[in-house]
Amino acid sequence: MARPLIADIDLEALRHNYCLARDLAPDSQAVAVLKADAYGHGAVACARALEDLAPAFAVACIEEAIALREAGIATPIVLLEGIFEAGELELVDAHDLWIAVHSDWQLEALLAYRPQRPIPVWLKVDSGMHRLGFAPEQAEAVWARLAAAPEVVGEMQLMSHFATADAAHPAYFETQLLRMRALAERLDAPLCLANSPATLAHPEAHGAWNRPGVMLYGSDPLEVANEASRGLQPVMTLRSEIIAVRDLAPGEPVGYAGRWKAPRPARIGVVACGYGDGYDRHAVDGTPVLVDGRRTAIAGKVSMDMLTVDITEIPEAEIGSEVVLWGRAANGTVLSVDEVARHCDTISYTLLTGVLPRAPRRYN
Ligand code: PLP
Repeated sequence: MARPLIADIDLEALRHNYCLARDLAPDSQAVAVLKADAYGHGAVACARALEDLAPAFAVACIEEAIALREAGIATPIVLLEGIFEAGELELVDAHDLWIAVHSDWQLEALLAYRPQRPIPVWLKVDSGMHRLGFAPEQAEAVWARLAAAPEVVGEMQLMSHFATADAAHPAYFETQLLRMRALAERLDAPLCLANSPATLAHPEAHGAWNRPGVMLYGSDPLEVANEASRGLQPVMTLRSEIIAVRDLAPGEPVGYAGRWKAPRPARIGVVACGYGDGYDRHAVDGTPVLVDGRRTAIAGKVSMDMLTVDITEIPEAEIGSEVVLWGRAANGTVLSVDEVARHCDTISYTLLTGVLPRAPRRYN
């Protein structure tokens, strides 16, 4: 019998979430962000599920784009970080990709290149994230140089990334937005700004294009959920089973360092999922799980191949019972990856991208 651990991927939920992002911004085009193997969900399968809906996909680098092209995906693909060396331009050209340009060396490499057809360019501006991009005061000159090379540069967009769009009181978000709006007005340029939180909560930031990522996978990035984000559906269900049961007397410890001790006579279920599968070892006692669709909690430190849950209050739980680490249980109950992430002192992004190949993906 195979080890009972699987990451079920609900492609209908992915399509639902994409449509939600699209419908929130009817005047924008939503590029579906599929980087990091579609946040751990499998980029090729997700691209196939979205190709009749999304006008474009976004990935981080050329390897991710080529993997999609080799799987037969013909949708436009933008490289969010552009090229990492000048030699990649030949591949950009050959695979008909779009690129972000965020630095001087990329600009010079592009303008020195002679493509078969003009390459669409998203000029990346650092409006306050201070990670990648040209300073707003440099951007006008860069835009002019790109615009003056129509044999090299195709359609152009201005893009920037928000640092705080998820926050309940995003003052800095407004600073970034105002900087980008002013620049776009001066250049009469289309804008691409909105990530998931801005797509969900800031219609004023919707541009010609938006770039929703994590919301497509059903995670709510907002500090305070809103009506739109409550409509998201989980895409990944990390599903395992109970493989052993222990009855413990009060005071007996469980697992490494004996972190959890039975506060009363207790029943513990041992689950076939651990940090060697990508489950976060920082999960504290009390991190929620669903056993046969009922909420209970982790009891004891996560090990490499196993974790332990308190099933004292679920007497019918036994070897073979379903355990959902996040996602949707067989009885329909949902445990959000965001809630699990909070118990691990992290964010859904790291949990989703962290699920290792030991948890095979299974698509509906
Ligand atoms: N755009 C850029 C440049 C990004 O780096 C990311 C993700 O990190 C996204 C869009 C999507 O962000 P989110 O997953 O928060 O929607």
